[in-house]
Order: sequence, then structure tokens, then C-alpha cells
Amino acid sequence: MKYYSTNHQVSPASLEEAVVRGLAADRGLFMPERIPTLDRAFIDGMKHMTFHEIALHVASAFFGDDMPQSDLRRIVEDTLAFDTPVVPVTDTVYSLELFHGPTLAFKDVGARFMARMLGHFIARQGASREVNVLVATSGDTGSAVANGFLDVPGIRVFVLYPKGKVSAIQECQFTTLGRNITALEVDGVFDDCQALVKSAFVDADLNAHLQLTSANSINVARFLPQAFYYFHAYAQMDRIGRAQRLVVSVPSGNFGNLTAGLIAHRMGLPVSHFIAANNRNDVFLDYLHTGVYRPRPSVATLANAMDVGDPSNFARILDLFGGDHAAITALISGSRTTDEEIRATLADVVRTHGYTPDPHGACGYHALMQRGLQPGETGVFLETAHPAKFLDTVETATGRSVEIPERLRAFMQGEKRSVPMARTFEAFKDYLLSQA
Ligand SMILES: *Cc1c(COP(=O)(O)O)cnc(C)c1O
Repeated sequence: MKYYSTNHQVSPASLEEAVVRGLAADRGLFMPERIPTLDRAFIDGMKHMTFHEIALHVASAFFGDDMPQSDLRRIVEDTLAFDTPVVPVTDTVYSLELFHGPTLAFKDVGARFMARMLGHFIARQGASREVNVLVATSGDTGSAVANGFLDVPGIRVFVLYPKGKVSAIQECQFTTLGRNITALEVDGVFDDCQALVKSAFVDADLNAHLQLTSANSINVARFLPQAFYYFHAYAQMDRIGRAQRLVVSVPSGNFGNLTAGLIAHRMGLPVSHFIAANNRNDVFLDYLHTGVYRPRPSVATLANAMDVGDPSNFARILDLFGGDHAAITALISGSRTTDEEIRATLADVVRTHGYTPDPHGACGYHALMQRGLQPGETGVFLETAHPAKFLDTVETATGRSVEIPERLRAFMQGEKRSVPMARTFEAFKDYLLSQA
């Protein structure tokens, strides 16, 4: 399978090129040339399959031509060393818990898959040269990528994060690892970090000295595997007879997670409707209303992993629908949740239903409530992080204490190490060149 650029200025790339490069040379995002459809027999049979079996089938549809089945099986099994269960919250609303991985957030799935796939390609090349993974994070990406790539031979990771804008718990998950992981503390906001990474990929000088790649959700090896758990969620809902009319609400920042859901849908997964659940960073909602996409600077919110003002995967959504605004609004609606509504939702869901969401999941739940469900519809919101990762917000809003999982405690005991970085590209480039 080839991967084309959403900007269409360069010729299609192989999977290996797309994964190693991250972003296409024309700054477009790679998209699979073909979206395979899975037949109805597979969809209906999923309820009898394990998560690994489902994921391997989906993975083979995309990657099967480009690597041996046995390698793909190993990558899938190593990636999905934890479950993504669907848990009832009300009679009609379910939480798809994606936070049972090592850093307690959904990004573990994509990050672990990408680390293993990149590791596979590097090993095959005979690793003549180190690959440098650059990743910008507003909180959770950094920890998932750093942990996913920790100790993978031939790979160094540089995590760029906005100084003072990620929680202490998030920060410790990528600043305490050491080894092949370096944290860069940028004097700016998330969009500055993202801009630095994007500029690095197209800088001829840097690319002559260092092999660079991205592990943001722009990388196909990170965003496509997120389709696995949409299929797995359907299988679980089907087992309990609730898969007929699913409304799936996806807390969204860079829109990689939602795009993976849309791809699953295009592959034949029966989902009636998607909701892009945003916090106050709601450029996508504006686009749905007006048909015009106007990026703007991000604002800080309680759901900080979604504080994105110019979502990088917007280009993929447009591409998937050929730019057809009417087709997009027919399948996807939007929603905005303010900080006050996040707090109120956290308190309400805990008190009324005995379930503790995190601030991002709260946006997903709130979006379902705003839209409402028709008779016969079942709502599923993606619970993208464990509530303990946002301890202060959740405990303050709910008045209850949240138990901190052992995995998180272990990170909090490590020693923080990071490199201070100005937000100018010159400073970043000089630093990278000094590492060549
Ligand atoms: C990254 C993240 C999101 C947003 O996901 P995108 O794929 O960027 O839209 C939502 N919630 C949490 C907890 C995250 O870490």
C-alpha cells in the first residue's frame, strides 16, 4: 500500500518512508491510498473474537502487504498488552476506557504501535544511522511516546513541551526517564512546540545532518492503529446487544483519534454518528457551522490535552470527505464544553452515576448530553485518560479523592531532567545540530 500526501505535491510513499518521514516533503499528511473495507461477516463475527484477533485483522488490511504477518502479529500483541473495556455509566451511555496502558492515556496504543513498527523498519535497514523522533506535546503525547520508545534500539526521542502548561503528573512521565529520551522545556505554548517540530522536518540543513521523524498523531503508524479499539468497542457493544445505533463521542485536540474512528467507519464499522467533543478550543465546531476553517491560538483549559488551536489532522478529515462540508456534517457534529461545564459534569457523573471521568472524558460525556440520544441510540464516549492524571481538577470538582495507580506513583518519584529551550527555530535548530 502506498501513502499519498494530503497536499498532493509529491509522489506517494511506501509505508516505511511514510513512517520514517512522518510528514510528507510538501508538508502534507500521509494518507493510505486505499481504505480497505471489511466484510459484514467479519463485523458480525467480532463479538466472538479477542481484541488481539480483531486488531490483527484490521492491521493486516492496512499493513499486511508491507510486512510479514508474523511480525505484524508480534507488533499488535506487544502493543495491546492491556485492555480497552467498555463500561456502563448510565442506561444508555457507556465509557470506552482507553487508559489502561503504561501512561494511563489512550495515546499509549498509537505510541507503542509506532515505536514497534519503526523499530521493525530500522532493524531491517541494518540501522546505519540513528533515527531522531521529535514530538510536541500538550501533556499526554510526550509521556506516551517517551514510554513507548524507551530503550528501542536506534531511536532517540526529543519531547518538546510548553513550560508551565502541563500538569506535574504529566511532566514527570517524560522528564524522569532519561536513557534515549530528552525533554525540552519550551518557553511558549503548545502551538509553538508544534511549529518548531514542523519547521524542523522541512529544514534542509537539519535533515542533512540528522534523520528526523515525528511521533505526533500526524504519523500514520500512530494514528491508524487507533482504529483498533473502535472495532473492539463495537464488538463489546454487540455482545450486550447494544451495537445497533451507536453515537460515538470523541474528546478531540489534534483530531487523530476522531480521524481513526472515521477511518474505521469508512472500513465498514457501523457507527451512526460521531461527535467531535471540544473544550473552548472549538475551531472545528466553527468549521461545521460555517464551512470555513479558521485556526486560532489555543487557550488554556482544564482539559489541556485538547488545547489545540490548529488541529493537524483537520487536513485528513477534509481529505477523507473530498472537502465536502455537507458530507462531513451529515456524519459528524461538534460540541464545546467550557471549564465550568467540565467541573459540573465531573461532579454530576460522580454523584449521580458513581463513575469518575477525567476532564477530557467529561467533555465527551457532556457532548453526548448536549446532543441527546434518540430512542434506540446508545452513546459511547472515549475516556481518554485516567482521572488520576488530572487529580486536582477532578478532586476539586467532585469533592472525592481519586486513587493514584501504582504506575503513576512510580513516575512521581523519579528525578525531573529537562533542557530549557527558547521558542525560536534558531535556538531549537542549534540545539539539534549540537546533538548530531
Ligand atoms: C491527546 C488527547 C486528546 C486529544 O486527542 P487527539 O487525537 O489529539 O484529538 C484527548 N484526551 C486526552 C487525555 C489526550 O491525551
